[in-house]
Amino acid sequence: MKLKKNDEIELLIESISSEGTGVGRYDGFAVFVDGAVTGDRIVAHIIKVKSSYAVGIIKKIIKASVFRIGADCASFERCGGCSFRQIDYAHELEMKRKSVEDALRRLGGADVAVEEILSIPDPDRYRNKGIYPVGIDENGKTAVGFFAKRSHRIVDCRDCRLAPEEFEGIINVISRWSAEFGVTVYDEESHRGLLRYIYLRKGFATGQLMVCLVINGDVVPAGDVLIERLTNGYPGIKSIVLNINKEKTNVALGRKCVTVFGADFIEDELCSLRFRISPLSFFQVNPAGCELLYARAREYAALKKGETLLDLYCGAGTIGLSMAADCKEVIGVEVIPDAVANAKANAELNGISNARFICSDAAEAAESLRAEKLRPDCVILDPPRKGCSAETVELVAGFAPSRIVYVSCDPSTLARDCKRFAEHGYTVSKATAVDMFPRTRHVECVTLMTRSK
Ligand code: SAH
Repeated sequence: MKLKKNDEIELLIESISSEGTGVGRYDGFAVFVDGAVTGDRIVAHIIKVKSSYAVGIIKKIIKASVFRIGADCASFERCGGCSFRQIDYAHELEMKRKSVEDALRRLGGADVAVEEILSIPDPDRYRNKGIYPVGIDENGKTAVGFFAKRSHRIVDCRDCRLAPEEFEGIINVISRWSAEFGVTVYDEESHRGLLRYIYLRKGFATGQLMVCLVINGDVVPAGDVLIERLTNGYPGIKSIVLNINKEKTNVALGRKCVTVFGADFIEDELCSLRFRISPLSFFQVNPAGCELLYARAREYAALKKGETLLDLYCGAGTIGLSMAADCKEVIGVEVIPDAVANAKANAELNGISNARFICSDAAEAAESLRAEKLRPDCVILDPPRKGCSAETVELVAGFAPSRIVYVSCDPSTLARDCKRFAEHGYTVSKATAVDMFPRTRHVECVTLMTRSK
């Protein structure tokens, strides 16, 4: 029988998709249900039918999965941040390990058993960064929080369980100030209003806080009052920045930052090194998870004293610098100028003299390093979600390094790129998933590729 909108059907949830949605089959036809857990038997109300799948919502749980637990956040059902608060954490971990293994096998053609997933002891309050959209909700009130699932509607949620506790208080200080001084709130449709996002960062090891207001303009009214209130209430604040974003875009941050209090950066520690991080520089959001990731990457890289390491997509230089003592030279490549400036300062801050950094697109830098006749023994790749370009894969393979360590936050693009590396004689010999993003559908992974011919 063909499914129609508004049908109510009984469904056994068989798996969770990479989007974090429960999947069941009705007469062989895939039905996706948000919030459903593998093993749940439910009544699903069908809200959409497409040619190859349908979408339902949970009408009733007939029999709950053994993996189902009570969600511990009041915003969970509406917020697009977490996907798995209703799932037992041990099950989430195994699901993520398996999803990486499946992607590498199915999409990457790599016959590799993914090692036991690495995880941090407490899956709450692990994030050192939050970018909170500000807008007007359906009741005409100012909302600060997160986008709802697959939408740009803002769910008011100031105390995210993944973020440090003081972020809520800082958001409330900014909210009260903006109401008091008539600071307008940005509206996506009309592209009007000043305040777009509240962007907060905390150095967990140092306690330093950064507050950044993303604005559709150049200045804020009564900025001095805000600075006074924030710094009096939160002495950990070492940097207050305005990020100028006047574009009609979904991208949260603009390119220009104006520091209005303190330094242009905050500092944090990772792997016993000190790092400077500017608002526009990438810095891993889960420092405890990041140390697990870097330790595994270091093990896979297995550097020797006389070797050269090429760290492509290096951000503020963190991975390469954490391995600089193991080898002769580290060359980092990164496209964002502020991050490269951080990376250079970070080398100096830690007394590391065998690292150099190039501000360039990864493929362009690889081209010029080839012209310099560079022969890296090991290449680390840590690209954004979209992975590497085919050209970058080809250029990296052209260096013929004996090891390629690929760090990724998207198993499907990682698998695609592993397949491309396989065409150049590299096979995935080891892989580990790291739960850098507990309770969300995201998972980090690191693979070691070695040359088989
Ligand atoms: N390895 C770093 C950063 C990883 S995030 C860490 O562990 O912290 C990915 C980085 O790739 C970001 O800093 C981003 O700015 C950079 N990037 C994105 N596209 C790039 C490109 N085409 N060439 C070089 N770097 C790029």
